[in-house]
Amino acid sequence: MTSTSPPSGSGLLERLAAGPVICAEGYLFELERAGYLTAGPYVPEVVLEHPDAVIRLHRDFLRAGSDVMLAFTYYAHREKLRLIGREGEIESMNRVAVRLARTVAQEGDALVAGNVCNSNIFVDGDAESARTVRAMFDEQVAWAIDEGVDFFVAETIAYLGEALLALEAIQETGLPAVVNLAIFRDGHTREGLTPAEACKRLEDAGADVVGLNCLRGPATMLPLLEAIRAAVSCHVSALPVAYRTTENEPIFLSLSDPDCACLPEGRAFPTGLDNLACNRYDIAEFTRDARTIGVNYLGVCCGAAPHHVRSMAEALGRQPPASKYSPDMSRHAYLGTIPEIPAANKEFAKNL
Ligand SMILES: [Zn+2]
Repeated sequence: MTSTSPPSGSGLLERLAAGPVICAEGYLFELERAGYLTAGPYVPEVVLEHPDAVIRLHRDFLRAGSDVMLAFTYYAHREKLRLIGREGEIESMNRVAVRLARTVAQEGDALVAGNVCNSNIFVDGDAESARTVRAMFDEQVAWAIDEGVDFFVAETIAYLGEALLALEAIQETGLPAVVNLAIFRDGHTREGLTPAEACKRLEDAGADVVGLNCLRGPATMLPLLEAIRAAVSCHVSALPVAYRTTENEPIFLSLSDPDCACLPEGRAFPTGLDNLACNRYDIAEFTRDARTIGVNYLGVCCGAAPHHVRSMAEALGRQPPASKYSPDMSRHAYLGTIPEIPAANKEFAKNL
């Protein structure tokens, strides 16, 4: 790591005070593509069935420059496990996920984050649903604390009210809280608040880092971040999906792929988004733009792969272990420029 890396051995807030922090995400999508969990339910069954695959992805993200190993407990909550009939394994799934994250974090100098997320059963203004959702957060937070985490991430939550419940659950532990909202296409929380208003409310309630993750790609997340940065004085997070969302199709659930006639029901989300993916240069550009705005907790969400994370790290001036293998086109068979490349190949390059 270069001198621009965060100070080693320190906690989240110390690292953020010293410079930006990277938290690689996108475990669900990457492990679905690899064949270890099912699109649709999107439950991290892989944690129990193929822990080696989770370890491998954590390790890839660590080598790519992630400062945080996020325990893969996204959707390992009671409501999701009930839907797939595995409620009896909820505790082991949560505990093992934290252990896997910790195992890899210790191979480098990464922090371990516990993770809670959207319950999908929160009803705005309904006290009973609030109690149910809070209990879901409480049990996941307790298992994570028991296994040992450095801080918590509450994420992909579209209701401020639900995000506040997650924050309260985290605050009981005394550990730092990152709270990331997911903003659907109308540009507001589900209660109708602007992201900036909602983030200000989360900051006022005691969140250490507030911002956005998921749903929106770099192009449609950036404009919201400027308003959030202006509204709060705490750290700001941004973890877009690695897809090219547009003004007309601002979230990845609404993206269309007019060049493909073979999509199931004509819908690219979630398994036909490949042609709409951000490349590593898109992510590098997003990283620079987000830094310019003042975002200092950065990552990539659904669609992310290790090359995106390395690109983000390098855009921050870092050289993580995986940078050893960053592109060197000077040695390419045809496009190369070094003397050892045959002149005939360089000449042929114009025919490519
Ligand atoms: Zn996501």
